[in-house]
Amino acid sequence: MANKAIWGLSLALILSVILSSCQSSSSGLDAALQSISLEDFSHNVQILSSDEFEGRAPATPGEEKTVTFLRQEFENLGLKPGNGDTFFQEVPMLKMKVDPSAKLRIFKGNSTLEFNYGDDFMAWTLRGVDKVGFTQAEMIFVGYGIIAPEYNWNDYQGLNVKDKIVVILINDPGFETKNPDLFKGKAMTYYGRWTYKFEEAARQGAAGALIIHETAPAAYPWGVVRNSWGGTNYTLETEDNNMSRCAIEGWLTLEAAQKILAAAGLDYQELKKKATKRGFKGFPLNLKASLNLKNNVSRVVSKNVVALYEGGERADEVIIFTSHWDHFGIDPTIKGDNIFNGALDNATGTAGLIELARAFTQLKPKPKRSFLFLAVTGEEQGLLGSQYYATHPVFPLEKTVAVINMDALNIWGPMKDITVIGYGLSELDKYVEEEAAKEKRQVNPDPTPERGSYFRSDHFSFAKQGVPALYLSPGVDHVVHGRKWTLAQRDKYLAENYHKPSDEFDPNWDLSGAIQDLRLIFKIAYRLSQEETFPNWNEGTEFKSLRDKMMGITK
Ligand SMILES: [Zn+2]
Repeated sequence: MANKAIWGLSLALILSVILSSCQSSSSGLDAALQSISLEDFSHNVQILSSDEFEGRAPATPGEEKTVTFLRQEFENLGLKPGNGDTFFQEVPMLKMKVDPSAKLRIFKGNSTLEFNYGDDFMAWTLRGVDKVGFTQAEMIFVGYGIIAPEYNWNDYQGLNVKDKIVVILINDPGFETKNPDLFKGKAMTYYGRWTYKFEEAARQGAAGALIIHETAPAAYPWGVVRNSWGGTNYTLETEDNNMSRCAIEGWLTLEAAQKILAAAGLDYQELKKKATKRGFKGFPLNLKASLNLKNNVSRVVSKNVVALYEGGERADEVIIFTSHWDHFGIDPTIKGDNIFNGALDNATGTAGLIELARAFTQLKPKPKRSFLFLAVTGEEQGLLGSQYYATHPVFPLEKTVAVINMDALNIWGPMKDITVIGYGLSELDKYVEEEAAKEKRQVNPDPTPERGSYFRSDHFSFAKQGVPALYLSPGVDHVVHGRKWTLAQRDKYLAENYHKPSDEFDPNWDLSGAIQDLRLIFKIAYRLSQEETFPNWNEGTEFKSLRDKMMGITK
């Protein structure tokens, strides 16, 4: 017995020596996982979403407080500056605010319709100019405003929209018809996103582009449109001062659009039906529009926070965690509570970065590859900070192993599952599946692909450049309350708090689900850090050729 015990002990010793020489011992991993702390996480969410941080708008005192806090946290954990000798990457932006007294006027013969900024339409410019507009410009209805050769679709076919105003439907024909053979059926394609529609209208030379808002296909109510663009708007500063963009971009409420179309003798629902048919062509509405905006524009510099935890063996190979620190700041035109605290969106993800950073510093030996903790600015304004990093990377993209994004973590408690937004796109799914399986958790695709979530957060800026990017979202099957309850909670948040001043920290939140997810993310990232291979996009995805090219992979 004694001999056997000694033999057993020495075998265990030998094994543990062998194991610890190639990877962190399981107790080391456990210690790292345990260092992801509910108390610290909750505390940091509360700090970041406090009124003192003023809603964390770019280039405001709220930014200064936010990025200083993050730098200090990363520094205290022993991380290094991620951009040479600094923890910051400067992001040059135009900061703009439209005078809300603007009126949209529509002319039909002698009669005029007049619409109010905010209640009936939202409009802005991305051009860095202080006055912009159009007078008595011709209006053209362009259906979904999509040119998609791969779907054999062109709403602009044979149309000249130069210097005209295009009126556009939101989402894509697949969403409207739920026909799986049309675009991607119910799931939104990038062509369904407003960002694409404004980009395409600019390429076509339109002076103005107005999207008709409808809650279901847009995936959010008018209040979100109003709040998102009603305050200060930001865009990346470009060499041409953004003069290649349309003079004016904006949205119409459904009611305003219906009135405008009625003036043209058209019915919105019928028109929408026609626009979903292949071969649909845009046409002039025989209406004219005037809209002039006074634009208070300034040049500002906002900051991405970049903190590095260097790997022990292949420090030049980097895994990036992204989370946007920014939110909408303060809107002085709102009566009562006018601070957009952005507690869920995205104080949670930002606080998550700190927890992950702490966990990785606990590992001995150090992980082989490096980790970059990238808290980006300007996400709410169109993924600006991540777009800037992805096009001005500190670490070469071909040495960037993967990006893992966190935007709005789980506030509803432990789940039996985890959601992969953009499931099926890359080999990173396999890591999630294998690690989740060890916890007996299921991996689900996005339950609401029609919302286009894959295009709506910072991982997408990296995907666009070809870097495999993973976006995990909370599960939808609560351990106690189940699936229906969870989906209802999500919808409630979306309707009541999303992008509103009421997105505030709530002591009733159950953040243990966020901790569960952060530990899963840690395990996925740890595995990536120990490997020598680089994950890729799956065959047939739109991003794979970019990755192959940067990695020198030829077929
Ligand atoms: Zn967000």
